[in-house]
Amino acid sequence: MTSIETAERYFHLAADVMDLSSNMRRLMLTPLRQVKVQIAMHRDNGEIGTYIGYRIQHDKARGPMKGGLRYHPEVNGEEVLSLAQLMTWKTAVVNLPYGGAKGGISVDPSTLSEGEMERITRKFVDEIHDVIGPDKDIPAPDMGTGAQHMAWIANQYEKYHGFSPACVTGKPVELHGADGRVEATGRGVAIVTEAALRELRREVKGVTVAVQGFGNVGSYAALILHEMGARVVAVSDAFGGIQNPEGLDIPALMEYMKETRKVEGFPGSDACKNEDILAAEVDVLIPAAIGGVLTGENAPHVRAQLIIEAANSPVTPEADEIFEQKGILVIPDILANAGGVTVSYFEWVQNQQYFRWDIDKVRVELAKRMAEGFGKVFQIAAEKKVSPRVAAYVLGIGRVGRAIALGGI
Ligand code: NAD
Repeated sequence: MTSIETAERYFHLAADVMDLSSNMRRLMLTPLRQVKVQIAMHRDNGEIGTYIGYRIQHDKARGPMKGGLRYHPEVNGEEVLSLAQLMTWKTAVVNLPYGGAKGGISVDPSTLSEGEMERITRKFVDEIHDVIGPDKDIPAPDMGTGAQHMAWIANQYEKYHGFSPACVTGKPVELHGADGRVEATGRGVAIVTEAALRELRREVKGVTVAVQGFGNVGSYAALILHEMGARVVAVSDAFGGIQNPEGLDIPALMEYMKETRKVEGFPGSDACKNEDILAAEVDVLIPAAIGGVLTGENAPHVRAQLIIEAANSPVTPEADEIFEQKGILVIPDILANAGGVTVSYFEWVQNQQYFRWDIDKVRVELAKRMAEGFGKVFQIAAEKKVSPRVAAYVLGIGRVGRAIALGGI
């Protein structure tokens, strides 16, 4: 099943529960605008490099569109569209005044030098600057991009439109970024994990956790759960995994990663394969890398009681059905990883007001939003007797649908 088929399948499951008409379904699934551009640049070796960039704007019924920029060799129009749809429902689940969008460049960032990365990013802005902006569509980091990319985007955008720090979020703190944005998605994942464990009448303290993907989201989710008393026993990245049944020292691992860029070889751990992470004997499994990793094939081997979708779309519909049959609780991406866009919203608010919040305020407001979203999703799940995933879609689609109806076509 392709990424767009997966996204639409989940949409229709909720739309069936809501008895949504076929016309309304078509309207809500059809993207507003799809931009596909050529990005050409001089490589360091003098050759010309040509790449394809995308920005897909799915829906703006509830406000300016919002979504990350992904630099990855597998970025393609269909995947970006499915991720843009997810953003529309996600911003609605945590009740942010935004619509949904997503973008990216089909490129392997590890093949680019720092200078090439800057040039490709600035060229991309040259191509899309007139369709993005603080009140139109606000990009943010995703896989393969970070604060430095956002700084280049703001700088290039401002060459056309003047000072507008709110045109992009996830910027460095020194350049109008928000304290707490870097950790935000991981912190949101940890907050949601604690709430889901409460539903299972368990506490965070002492639970065992495995995390696939030790990038921005996975590393902070692991760190904050470790600080809350969980035992993170296995983690992996694109190069392989490590484990220690006694628990990994996550702060030390994050320090180690600054030097090595890989989890491999971390003192006091044993190497393991990426597949072992997914089948690890743990209480909580957190896929925090890429989409489609839990499939009909490997789902029967999963031993965790709780799966938190920190990545976007890590569980395929086939795996989702298996987990439901096995009584494994899955917290869906549009709730679980909404902490990033929530703090991006706080950054945008601060940029518009020229006023900086302190980190404590950011953390308190994030916890409040995540708890509200979680509470609503579980309330709908109980009322309608559906999974948290279907409930989250019912919540998101319902809010977007009401905005469309009130605003008019
Ligand atoms: P990142 O680039 O910082 O990290 C990705 C991590 O996954 C790296 O450790 C990489 O080595 C690892 N990885 C890649 N392929 C892998 C594989 N096949 N097996 C195991 N590990 C693999 O990216 P990120 O920002 O942490 O994003 C991770 C996921 O979370 C993505 O799905 C992204 O869409 C989603 N997400 C990110 C944010 C955010 O704020 N960054 C917000 C919401 C959702």
